Amino acid sequence: MRKLLVPVFSAVLLVSCGTAKTASDVSSSQNSAVKGDKAFVSAYKEIKAADLKKNLYVIASDEMEGRDTGSPGQKRAGEYMVNYYKNLGISFPKALGSYYQKVPSDFMKKRGGSNLPDSENILAFIEGSEKPEEIVVVSAHYDHVGTKNGVVYNGADDDGSGTVAVMEIAKAFQAAKKSGKGPKKSVLFLHVTGEEHGLFGSEYYTDNPVFPLANTVVDLNIDMIGRDDPENRGKQYVYVIGSEMLSSQLKLINEAANKRTNNLELNYKYDDPNDPQRLYYRSDHYNFAKNNVPVAFFFDGIHEDYHKPTDDVEKIDYDLLAKRTQLVFATAWEIANRPDRIIVDKK
Ligand SMILES: [Zn+2]
Repeated sequence: MRKLLVPVFSAVLLVSCGTAKTASDVSSSQNSAVKGDKAFVSAYKEIKAADLKKNLYVIASDEMEGRDTGSPGQKRAGEYMVNYYKNLGISFPKALGSYYQKVPSDFMKKRGGSNLPDSENILAFIEGSEKPEEIVVVSAHYDHVGTKNGVVYNGADDDGSGTVAVMEIAKAFQAAKKSGKGPKKSVLFLHVTGEEHGLFGSEYYTDNPVFPLANTVVDLNIDMIGRDDPENRGKQYVYVIGSEMLSSQLKLINEAANKRTNNLELNYKYDDPNDPQRLYYRSDHYNFAKNNVPVAFFFDGIHEDYHKPTDDVEKIDYDLLAKRTQLVFATAWEIANRPDRIIVDKK
């Protein structure tokens, strides 16, 4: 999640009114009463708190040095992700020729990203069985803010949590594909870079899309879903932002997917472009929305470790992370498999 650039608002929500929780029990997310057809249910069960945890302990480890845009640590995290996709047999978009889409230093410089090195978006892709030209995007940024004065900002929640969620959702779709029930539309797993410096990776992608944006059905963007904020301490919730801005169907689809799965409290507090926190503009989905692609942004709130070196893996609630990941998967599954594409009927 990008920092709010208007300082007058930025301190308001950072006041803590509770203590951080320790790593939670990782078993209960497997007991939910999920409803749906057999193929969905078995794919859904691939999403496991323990696997999210395993990947996050690598992505947000000190070895990745806070994953600053273009840094060696970020590239190491990228290599881990690429190897993960290779091991699952999930390839990249053919037109791209590799998992990497280079985001040039010059591009970021022109948009105010002073002297960032070249960096890469990472794209994994599962081709649809019936409408391969229609693309469902599931995105998260994998950069964070790096190391400052020798202290590593691990960014476990921001956005290690979204990064491992996208990886886990890809695994679930791939399991379905292996059993002959792959998605009807194509699904692009898009890990963008440069988010913390100005949403650069997603802007580069939407300026240079690998698949035409006119055929891009939705962007489900995940940025921080592993924690709770002071207002919602201990609750089973997630903030959803932007889901009715462009399509009258997306919010309803997401709500139905939620009812079929973990029935989280869907909190729409920030779902307003005029909200002082301006969250609609502060993560990568915005670059899709500005191009008229419907978006839903999943988010856990501004908590006490936001953009602090204490945003660490042991503070993540893995059970809640799994439930929120399952919700995004269920929504992506519905959109990828329903006969029609969701309509764009709002401006
Ligand atoms: Zn951030």
